[in-house]
Amino acid sequence: MALLTLKDIGKIYVSEGNATVGIRGVNLSFDKGEFVAITGKSGSGKSTLLNVISGMDSYEEGELYIEDQPTSHYLQPEWEEYRKKYISFIFQDYNIIDSFTVLQNVELALMNIDDKKVRRARALELIDRVGLSPFVKQKGSKLSGGQKQRTVIARALAKDSPIILADEPTGNLDSATSKEIIELLREVSKDKLLIVVTHNFEQVEDYATRHIRIFDGAVESDHVMKHTETPSGDGKEQSAKTDKKDKKKEKIRNIKNGITLGRTIFTSKPKLSVFLCFLMIIGTLGIFMITTFCGDATDMFDKHYMFSHIDGRVVVVKQNGEAITDAELSALAEKSGAKSTIHYDLLLDESYGSVQYYDESKREYENIDVQCAYNENFGDGIVGSYPTEANEVFLYLPIAYQPVFGKDSIITDKISFKSLQLKVTGVKYYYDNNIRGKMVFTEEGFRVATAVDYLSNNYTTLSVAVISKDSGYTMHFDYGNYFITSFNVENGKIYIFDESFREYVRTQEEELSIQLSFNTSKYKDDYYGGYTTVDFLKTFTGDILTDTYPDVSSETNGMYVKNVAVHPSVIVEVAEDIMKQCYSQASLFFENDKAAHNAISALRDEGYVAVTSDTTCSQDPLDAILTIIQSLFMGILWILAILFLAFFINLCSSRVLGAFKSDMAIMRSMGIPVKVVRIGMYVRMLISLVPAFITVIAVAILIFTTPTFNKFFVYLYPWQYAVIFVGMIILTARITHKQIRKLFGESVKKSLKGGAAE
Ligand code: ADP
Ligand code: MG
Repeated sequence: MALLTLKDIGKIYVSEGNATVGIRGVNLSFDKGEFVAITGKSGSGKSTLLNVISGMDSYEEGELYIEDQPTSHYLQPEWEEYRKKYISFIFQDYNIIDSFTVLQNVELALMNIDDKKVRRARALELIDRVGLSPFVKQKGSKLSGGQKQRTVIARALAKDSPIILADEPTGNLDSATSKEIIELLREVSKDKLLIVVTHNFEQVEDYATRHIRIFDGAVESDHVMKHTETPSGDGKEQSAKTDKKDKKKEKIRNIKNGITLGRTIFTSKPKLSVFLCFLMIIGTLGIFMITTFCGDATDMFDKHYMFSHIDGRVVVVKQNGEAITDAELSALAEKSGAKSTIHYDLLLDESYGSVQYYDESKREYENIDVQCAYNENFGDGIVGSYPTEANEVFLYLPIAYQPVFGKDSIITDKISFKSLQLKVTGVKYYYDNNIRGKMVFTEEGFRVATAVDYLSNNYTTLSVAVISKDSGYTMHFDYGNYFITSFNVENGKIYIFDESFREYVRTQEEELSIQLSFNTSKYKDDYYGGYTTVDFLKTFTGDILTDTYPDVSSETNGMYVKNVAVHPSVIVEVAEDIMKQCYSQASLFFENDKAAHNAISALRDEGYVAVTSDTTCSQDPLDAILTIIQSLFMGILWILAILFLAFFINLCSSRVLGAFKSDMAIMRSMGIPVKVVRIGMYVRMLISLVPAFITVIAVAILIFTTPTFNKFFVYLYPWQYAVIFVGMIILTARITHKQIRKLFGESVKKSLKGGAAE
């Protein structure tokens, strides 16, 4: 049985309508142990013959038998398998991977050895055998021609294939080196079939066992020069078909080899890799920005609750729109099983910059958008303590406010809410852009704040009448809405800052009494959203103090001209007196939204209009559809942005690809499976993703640890970080996929059509 038989092989090149004969009617048979020298004029078809034998070029006529098996029906994967199993190719132009070291080049051919140590040992042994031991760590680009060709020979040996093909292996070497290389080739391939194409027959004369002359694509002569010892043992059992188990093993091996290859490619071109990493970092920051934008943009379409959504909250209104009485509310709570109630719940739905603090560094007042709450507990990790007095509050704020309110102890303890001065007793910070902060009062404090809020929302003016007790003469002072509520004012006392008022009081000889009138124009901003005006007058009689000022901090006093200060109890009385008559809604609280939903029908049975706060935004099905479309749109936008980024990065990195093209052809000609190269490329890209990955983590840490950073870079949810990582992977996959398609689209065809041997 011959190792390799060519029967009537013909190869015709067709290009631009011209057919060129590569080889024709070639009948040859080769065995192990032969050293075949092929000579012939340039263009006679020597390279074509080798390419056909190597399976890198197809043939149109005849049949090529390998170990007596025909090959004409082979498709690309079978040829790949064929090359992997039988062929080592040595080219004139060396074809080693310049960026790899000698060791890496040789190890590339030893991929079928799973054990890394064994692989390395074998590679070193082979390198020693071709006399390159001192250059193990030398890069391919720094080797001389002879050294390169030795590396190629070591690599050919590493494959341990039965056939070694060499196309003018010494064509670029001086004659002394050429001799050495031929000698080495012969020495290392005694038990193999070695076919060498050469211009210079003299060089091989002493070693060749057979000489074939090619002329015009056909065999002109075929001389056996020496006796050929055919080594014993045949490769029949080797060609036994691989069973399933081996296939699985092969798969694992391909993956492992791909990973190793990817790492080698990455480290062997440090400059390119740095460039790639840089691109990836840019890309990742791009994704970060896009994700941030999409997150923000989604907020634009956020649900607009008619009422603040509070888990378990139900808002009730009487069918006829009349005000609910306290008695009715408590009866309703009992019947429906509500946990608690708030009669005057308007403050729950306030939604603008409510807290005001004085920023020392900017020397101006800053507002924070918070939601008012009471008696709420935030668990561990709080700074300070919870409030116990009506004028104390606890703040639940975004982490960006940590520098303002303190990390370990409270820095700013004075804030104001609608001219109501409050003391901060505790703070807790959170990382979230999508929720609103909270200001938590005691129950009494909440009541006061509600009253202040109510009066300030429903334009309330205050006037003071000074009545002379004897004559009954009344002097009016109108102060508009320039009054403040302060816990520092003694209960039952009124302070008037206005100098003209003080002057008037001082100069009166009669005994005076004072009357305070609050006048409110109120419009109903309840469930029905109607607008009605109610005029309301409330009078107080009390002592005036002209000799002292209460401790009302200049912060509130300084900004507007405030003329009158009253104790909160006055305001509560005024406000609740109005609300008692006009405020037509109330809130009931249940365990959670589910319990709230369950209670709705009972409340309606009682004759109330009742809505849970979670449904007050999505009752319209069109709205719900719109929200879905919007988030879908955002998702698509996100993906498009990523693909665009991938496209951009791909453009930038096409140089990386170009540099890899020839290496790729070499690997392919060595019979390294496409799969391995593919995995290698993916791995290389994934590695270059690592710095980008680290960048994102660093940014995340920065955002989490540096509160002020949060003002510029929004806090993202963990799932959004997950989205960024997914984006990075899509990006990488996309770029790699495109690169691979480009590479394989060109160079596979090229190498299969003999391009690799050009
Ligand atoms: P040699 O290696 O002996 O110099 P080749 O095998 O390279 O000769 O070429 C044999 C013939 O085939 C030449 O006429 C050459 O022009 C032609 N040929 C080789 N490769 C191609 C190709 N890829 N496309 C078209 N013609 C080709
Ligand atoms: Mg040639």
